[in-house]
Amino acid sequence: MNESRSKTLYERAKKVIPGGVNSPVRAYKPYPFFTARAQGSRLYDEDGNNYLDYSLAYGPMILGHAHPEISDAVKKQLRKGTMYGTPTEAEVEMAELVSSAYPSIDKLRLVNSGTEATMHAIRVARGFTGKKKLVKFAGCYHGAHDYVLVKAGSGATTFGVPDSLGIPEETTRNTLLVPYNNIEALQEVVEANKGEVAAVIMEPVVGNAGVILPREGYLQEVRKITKEQDIILIADEVITGFRLAMGGAQEYYGFEADITTLGKIMGGGFVIAAYGARDEIMDNISPLGKIYQASTYSGNPISVAAGLAALKILARNNGEIYGQLEASGKKLQECLVDIVDDAGVSAQVNGVSSMFQLFFNDAPVVDYKTAKLSDTERFMRYQRGLMAKGVYIAPSQFETCFVSAAHSNEDLNETLMAMEESIKES
Ligand code: PMP
Repeated sequence: MNESRSKTLYERAKKVIPGGVNSPVRAYKPYPFFTARAQGSRLYDEDGNNYLDYSLAYGPMILGHAHPEISDAVKKQLRKGTMYGTPTEAEVEMAELVSSAYPSIDKLRLVNSGTEATMHAIRVARGFTGKKKLVKFAGCYHGAHDYVLVKAGSGATTFGVPDSLGIPEETTRNTLLVPYNNIEALQEVVEANKGEVAAVIMEPVVGNAGVILPREGYLQEVRKITKEQDIILIADEVITGFRLAMGGAQEYYGFEADITTLGKIMGGGFVIAAYGARDEIMDNISPLGKIYQASTYSGNPISVAAGLAALKILARNNGEIYGQLEASGKKLQECLVDIVDDAGVSAQVNGVSSMFQLFFNDAPVVDYKTAKLSDTERFMRYQRGLMAKGVYIAPSQFETCFVSAAHSNEDLNETLMAMEESIKES
């Protein structure tokens, strides 16, 4: 592997950008490669190396990099101007498309990032219910804003402790933590805080503690409890939205949230996100109602053009692309199981459709606690081994590997060979 230019750029970056990166997950030892360009299933770095990409920019690039239809849509919009600060027909079309994919969404607001989407969704839930408390699941990530930057406390009913300096305890005092996949724990917290919980926010499939799947019936039980107690269920589908199906995890697993947050895939690689819900909830948002939310960049025409192009490709022929993604994901997951079995390695493969992760862990990974028992150092040796063989996965045990529609069968075979060698060497 050639790596001198990335190393030099990293030294330069560290002088002007904290840790040399614009988002912490991008930094790893000894230094990350710097990307020069990307095409289809591959990233090309500044040193002339290329990698089959299973990070896909942490999820968005489901159609692969530099998709010609998305690039054309962006070029076309560029000629017409990049920002107006007025309504456009394209943003209405985008809202119609998203709403038609999600039966639980009548109306939605376009925002700019997943962080913004969940922040506003929580405000809307509180404004709508007149209640304050928020239940979140340990290991679920909902962006970098104050209310949700809380992970595991010392027990199911502990008040949230901030994960970052700079977040006042008063802010997270209203964030209650429960373990994922444990319906009794949720029931207990809801009972103990009866009448005070505005919302339960969850990733229907956890994608920020590696991949953790909901137990059979779990999502339906969460839905039942929240409905019975008049609690808003926020499905954070920033990762799963348009990845598992056009209607996301709600379509895939068969449940309906009250508020849904979306991001990543819906922008076709550009900056956009959304939150949406039924009319009864969304009609309380300014200028209709008293819940305020706003942004200069919301509905940016370039992002909308890219997102619309991506969503139309995904929806084509009744969403047939999802069959291909499902098959590619299944092949990787099944072969990985065989590889670890044959190698006699203690590891778990968790995955659904085109998202998966390998945990170096003796026991099944069903929640944050079990995920944290994984051998993270071995994972990083595996990740480095893959990179040396031309395969890039996100540099953390607690991220997700994603497959795109641009990954060919040859790509997958090449990847599996690299995985087999890297697991054995790790
Ligand atoms: N929710 C989930 C489920 C996420 O995975 C992420 C980002 N990985 C976010 C929210 C925050 O999105 P963003 O980084 O666009 O602010």
